[in-house]
Amino acid sequence: MLFDSHCHLNLAAFEADREEIIKRMEQEKIFAINIGTCFETSKKAIKIAEDTSNCWASVGLHSAHTFPAPSNQLDKNEINNFQDNLGNTLPVEEFDSKFEDLIRRHKKVVAIGECGLDYSYFKEISSEEQEKCKELEEEEFRKQIKIAQKYNLPLILHLRDLYKEALGILKENNYSGKAIFHFFTGSLEESKSILQNPNFYLGFSGVITYGNKLDEVLKETPLERILIETDAPYVAPVPYRGKRNEPFYVKEVAQKIANIKDFPLEEIKRQTFQNALRFFEIR
Ligand SMILES: [Zn+2]
Repeated sequence: MLFDSHCHLNLAAFEADREEIIKRMEQEKIFAINIGTCFETSKKAIKIAEDTSNCWASVGLHSAHTFPAPSNQLDKNEINNFQDNLGNTLPVEEFDSKFEDLIRRHKKVVAIGECGLDYSYFKEISSEEQEKCKELEEEEFRKQIKIAQKYNLPLILHLRDLYKEALGILKENNYSGKAIFHFFTGSLEESKSILQNPNFYLGFSGVITYGNKLDEVLKETPLERILIETDAPYVAPVPYRGKRNEPFYVKEVAQKIANIKDFPLEEIKRQTFQNALRFFEIR
């Protein structure tokens, strides 16, 4: 049994073989949370969750959807990251009552996000414009913090380096719930300041297999505070690097942690599975 705590079978990259993959996941006992990035992908994540026994969904608005940026100022790869099920680039949205309706109406929604801060999309514009974009990102982030608190659902955080800033915003909003710092790539110091809050967890992806940069962080992070993930279809772990990522490859993430911590693979699988059930309150 393995739990992929963050993947996107709801995106266009899986349009052709989604059902096949889900069937195989059921056979191989791979559980997963499909993560919403906008309204349409949140709805799709719920649909998958309701059609299967081993998938759950999150509802959220990714920071990449919160500010209007001319497409020629966005990195091409980043545009490709955010398409609807037909491959169209999605418009700017607000986290409004229609998202809240999804949360209220569907029991298999177990988290809010992914949401947070990512300034990497608008490096090329004037500092005045950058400030505007940052404000919009932060505004949508705050809305989702409030909704997570209101419905007592954990937050899934997408943060590009901005760990300190995010901790500040969570504190300002008196956030007292759980949060997963998805795709963690920060420093040992940043990991320690996050883990001071007993409700906060670190999510490790295939990127930990690319080198030894995160080995020290992995060694120092208690296993009980780790969730493993693929972020499929992106960032496949070694030896699949460069290919489309799939939830099955979460095993490579578990294996790397087993190597670093010098624990049996089975123990890493078992504990991270339990962590995910506890974190998302899945019974
Ligand atoms: Zn993601």
